[in-house]
Order: sequence, then C-alpha cells, then structure tokens
Amino acid sequence: MKIKKFTCINCGAPKVNEYKSPYIMCDYCGSFTDIDFTLGMNFWNQSVMKNIGYAFNKMDYMNRLQYALQQGNKQEYWRLQRGYWDYYYRTYPAYLPPSIDDGYKYRDYLDVCAESSTESAFEPKWGDLARQQQALQQSLQYYQTTSGTKVQSDGFFKLAEFFTGMMKEGFKVFYENPKYEVMKDLLPEQVHLKMKMSMFVQAWLPYLTDEDQDRFLKLTGFSMQYVEIEKPAGRTGECEHCKAEIYIPEGSFKVHCEACHKTTKVQQTFKCMSCGADNNVPEYPAKPIDCEFCGVENRLIQRLFG
Ligand SMILES: [Zn+2]
Ligand SMILES: [Zn+2]
Ligand SMILES: [Zn+2]
Repeated sequence: MKIKKFTCINCGAPKVNEYKSPYIMCDYCGSFTDIDFTLGMNFWNQSVMKNIGYAFNKMDYMNRLQYALQQGNKQEYWRLQRGYWDYYYRTYPAYLPPSIDDGYKYRDYLDVCAESSTESAFEPKWGDLARQQQALQQSLQYYQTTSGTKVQSDGFFKLAEFFTGMMKEGFKVFYENPKYEVMKDLLPEQVHLKMKMSMFVQAWLPYLTDEDQDRFLKLTGFSMQYVEIEKPAGRTGECEHCKAEIYIPEGSFKVHCEACHKTTKVQQTFKCMSCGADNNVPEYPAKPIDCEFCGVENRLIQRLFG
C-alpha cells in the first residue's frame, strides 16, 4: 500500500491506516497529527462558499463586529465572534478539526476562537501586519497566459514570505499563552500552522507557473512523497460510534474511524511498567502518565517507536 509518510508529532508512530480526509489522525494515540494537502484541495474546495446564505450572514457578522470594534466594546465583540465561529462550523463541518469530537471540546474550542480573535482585533500590532500584507497583495502584477492568469514571481514570493513569517509569529504568541493550553491537544501548533498555510497555498496555486508552484510548495513545506508502507500486525475491530470496521495495529490505544471521524479507545487499561498495576488509559495516550499506584511515569507508545 502506498501512503504519504507521516510520523505522529505526539508519539512518534507512523501512519499505517488509509485515510479519506485530509486530516491525518494517529493510529496509535488518536491525536490529530498532520494534514495531507493534496487530499485537502478537493475536500475543502467542495464546501467553499457553497451557499449564498453563508456569504450574507458572514457579511452581517462582519458589519456588527466592525461596529463593536469601533465602539471599543470588547464584550460584545467576543460574543459576536463566538456566534460567528459556531455558525461557521455548523455550516462547514468539514473544516472542524476531527480532534474536536464532543460537545465539551467544541465549547472550549469556540471559546478559544472567540478569545483569540478578540485579542488580536484589539491589539494594534496585528492590524498593522494585516495592512502590510494587504499592501503587498495590492502591488502584485498579473499577466495572461494560455493556461490562465498568472502572477509575477517576485512580488508573489515577497507576499508568501511575509505571510509565512506573520503566521509563525502569531502562532508562537498564541501557543505560549497559558489561556490557550487546551489547544495543544485539540489542534497542535504544527498542524494548525499547516492548516492555515494550506488555505493560503490553495488560494494561490492556480495563479502560479509550474516552476513557481514547485518553489512555493517547497517554501511552505507541502511537497511530500509517497512511500511504501507495510501494514503492521494487528486486528480488525469495530468503531464504538458507527460500528464501521477499523484496523487496530498492535500496540495502539486509540484508532480514528474514517467513516464517522470519531476516535475509538481500543485499550481501556495499561499495566504500569514499574509496579505492574492496571491503570486507566488517559484521554491523550501520547502524553506521559504517572502510575496511580507507584507514581512512576509511563510512556505508553514511545516504548514502541522511541
Ligand atoms: Zn500518535
Ligand atoms: Zn465510526
Ligand atoms: Zn506503578
């Protein structure tokens, strides 16, 4: 079987099961670990701006947000942002990271969306950067070819580098903030960055020549190779949510179901490596966990792939 080479950022395990959406979930610890950009192109395009109602409602939210910002009304701004993000993910559920698979996580996630959008709106630094980006974008030159409108290289790569730098800096600030701690599990920094970058790549790729496309994909870290993967030993099981068949590799604690995009816990307990007592498998099995009985730190999956 040919599959893109992905290694879990949390536990180090390789991706072994086939996947049908661009979201790559680890087959051993169940975390959201990467994005397959080539699949994303088709997947996300299908739902982009699919209804005119969305465009209308979004405009309405944006106008009310603008007003709240002008009034300096942070509380109202936060409330509107929260409402907007809820509306957005209800309209386009395909964009919701699959790690957000229950009502509690969804609520926490929306709070973070509202809080961080509000903070950046009221922080002049980010507004300045956004205006610089806009200026770069407006200075771009276009020309016609037989394969459509293309953008001049120099200006475009200036914009791409600016955007990449701005995103990286923004994410660094965001993930260092203890207020957003929950995001490290829901949407790890590396994956989040890749998601944002993939939206940018997706929008610009059609305007680039073949040569520039290559350069751009390298710059943004999206050129990847397929490798031959041997399916590891394991067994077939059943998704606890939709009953679809799932393949559970040996040593796995949580497997993501491609049919319903939910995660099934396949091992409820583990034996402490020091005292041998049975402990419950934690929500995020990639994280080190202290034995309830002797206190020794256990690493559930690293033992296999470390
Ligand atoms: Zn993992
Ligand atoms: Zn399922
Ligand atoms: Zn123990």
